[in-house]
Amino acid sequence: MPNNMESESRKLLGRLRDTLAEDSAGQARLDRITHLIADSMQTEVCSIYLFRDKDTLELCATEGLKPEAVHKTRMRIGEGLVGRVARTRCMVNTADAPAEPGFRYMPETGEEIYSSFFGLPIQRLGEILGVLVVQSKEARAFTDDEVYALEVVAMVLAEMTELGAFVGDEGGMSALHTHPVLFRGATGQEGVAEGHVYLHEPRVVITNPVADDPEAESLRLREAVDKLRISVDSMLARVEPSDKDQREVLEAYRMFANSRGWMRRMEEDIGRGLSAEAAVEKEQSAARSRLATVPDPYMRERLHDLDDLSNRLLRILTGQGKETGAEMPENPILVARNIGPGELLDYGKDLKGIVLEQGSVGSHAAVVARAWAIPLVIHAEGITTEALNGNAILIDGDQGIVHLRPEETVATAFRDKIAMQAEAQKRYAGLVGLPAQTLCGKHIALHMNAGLMADLPSLATSGAEGVGLFRTELQFLIRNKVPKRGDLASLYARVMDAAKGKRVVFRTLDIGSDKVLPYMKPQEEPNPAMGWRAIRVGLDRGGVMRMQLQALIRAAAGRPLTIMFPFVAQFDEFRDAKAMLAAVLESEGKLGHVLPASLEVGAMLETPSLAFAPDRFFEETDFISIGGNDLKQFFFAADRENERVRRRYDTLNYSFLSFIRQIVARCDQFDTPVSFCGEDAGRPLEAVAFAAMGVRTLSMRPASIGPVKAMLRRLDLDEVAAVIDQAATEGAQSVRKALSDHLAERGFIT
Ligand code: PEP
Ligand code: MG
Repeated sequence: MPNNMESESRKLLGRLRDTLAEDSAGQARLDRITHLIADSMQTEVCSIYLFRDKDTLELCATEGLKPEAVHKTRMRIGEGLVGRVARTRCMVNTADAPAEPGFRYMPETGEEIYSSFFGLPIQRLGEILGVLVVQSKEARAFTDDEVYALEVVAMVLAEMTELGAFVGDEGGMSALHTHPVLFRGATGQEGVAEGHVYLHEPRVVITNPVADDPEAESLRLREAVDKLRISVDSMLARVEPSDKDQREVLEAYRMFANSRGWMRRMEEDIGRGLSAEAAVEKEQSAARSRLATVPDPYMRERLHDLDDLSNRLLRILTGQGKETGAEMPENPILVARNIGPGELLDYGKDLKGIVLEQGSVGSHAAVVARAWAIPLVIHAEGITTEALNGNAILIDGDQGIVHLRPEETVATAFRDKIAMQAEAQKRYAGLVGLPAQTLCGKHIALHMNAGLMADLPSLATSGAEGVGLFRTELQFLIRNKVPKRGDLASLYARVMDAAKGKRVVFRTLDIGSDKVLPYMKPQEEPNPAMGWRAIRVGLDRGGVMRMQLQALIRAAAGRPLTIMFPFVAQFDEFRDAKAMLAAVLESEGKLGHVLPASLEVGAMLETPSLAFAPDRFFEETDFISIGGNDLKQFFFAADRENERVRRRYDTLNYSFLSFIRQIVARCDQFDTPVSFCGEDAGRPLEAVAFAAMGVRTLSMRPASIGPVKAMLRRLDLDEVAAVIDQAATEGAQSVRKALSDHLAERGFIT
């Protein structure tokens, strides 16, 4: 870069820093800056437009335009050239502004006499904060030097805006991140909560964007990048060769950390007067803006990697760790881009809710949220940029909505909803000791799903008759090594102790598909949900399943034991799994371990094929549990993780209900007990429909037991079945409306 270019921008930045250091209030500061830029650039006009709200830009300071237009002239995003810069986040540099597409002059500003226009976005980490404009009468385009200089100035302005440098009582801007913002995400786990933001990874704050000793800054940058490289190399050395995903990410880190282009661009920015951290952040901002426009998922992943790497570098440079010393606020609601189950568990059960920018309904974080019975909203895009530690936040997991810094009216309405739910919970508490006995005299056994030791206390408080599904994979997912047999045995024993004789159905490891163990070699599978998972892995790689069966037998130590094999698609798989169990029992006996007093062995019906298995299967299995989450995705060929299709087919679709009825009929033929343990069992309307189809045992999250029981106790299942059949006779594909109407007639709000 030519030296004069460096020194021009450095001079300008130096003056800017001095201005910022002066003790002036928000508006005065902005006024001085516009004066200073116009003077340095030798233009008649310099104006700063900042966002008033998310759609409106406001002229906040100007040198050259009519002063009375300040804080009066506003434009919507996309409107005029300024609005175009804000919308496209690209600069507009023209000698003949009126000839530009979209040009529209604001008469109150007196700008019609200026021919040339140069506007560029003021943005920080992909968030657009405003537009910086210079204009002159003389018809001229701005040179590369001037463009460079203004780019770095815009970046510093963005930093200062973020830090609240222009916030003032009179005329100044209101601080950023103070307005209410609504995020529309998706449901990860139902429930509502009110609390305060607790950021998983608080943003790094840069207080010194401008520096006057480029050599010292370059040296700081190089030293920090060296440290970064060393840390990436040592992370790479620690990662298992089989862990392909983790390796891929770290290899990308290494590639970026050694990238000459990245380093050169940052050094150039330092040359123009930025501090080392501001130079890193400028690059990071550029990567974030690209992220918004890149459709290719692989490229997006890599841009995310660069973003993560930049954060690491910034933390090295500023010394700000993840641990910023921020205290966990009261009623903490965790806000993160994404989070693994281990990290989530570290926060403990104090969390009142979780909001993620990424995540999925089947993610491990969702499994933990479910176990803790706290709401989870996923896909809340942009929330980590907007939320500050301690901000008030309301999350509605039922609707997938988050209100950040809510208005009082919203908060009041929300609190009413929470109070109503709490009121209902109190009513449900009164039902704990009562059976789920329908008006037609049928008893529906309500069990709970679990996966953590922490779930077990809910057994007593919810009134569940037992644990209908204990997902054992969680213990495997939260560790970075295969857990030891002894550790598993003692955990399972504690679970059985806590259940105090109530039945616990231990499901053997259901891994693969979305549940990839950190230490398992990930498989390149075109369609993992239909791939090598669950019992398929258990049978092909017997070691882990055998170890788990031994742990279960030792944990039972003479008590009754119930084991369930997941994802059985055909009889042979069940037979083979039972044979493996028989062999393990025999060898455990020989080793002198006390064998279980009784043993029940069941299968999960999660693929339609098993419903059509030979009679012998139904005779040989002790029970069947319908895994509705998987069964539904295969029945409708609609991926349970894919937001585009996962809600497309209603569970109350008559075809699906008829299928459930057929499964029950087959089981009844052989007196094989059948339960339903997918998430839908916990939704009152769905639960009632399954019961009407003949299912007599439902297993669900503990918080759902009250609402489901309350509804079942006031209904006649024969009537419900008649309503469902009548709706189908009339041609309804989904019977939801007919069922809701029937319930409404009986005083239920659904
Ligand atoms: C199911 O598929 O319904 C089920 C209970 O198993 P998971 O959700 O763990 O796959
Ligand atoms: Mg399943």
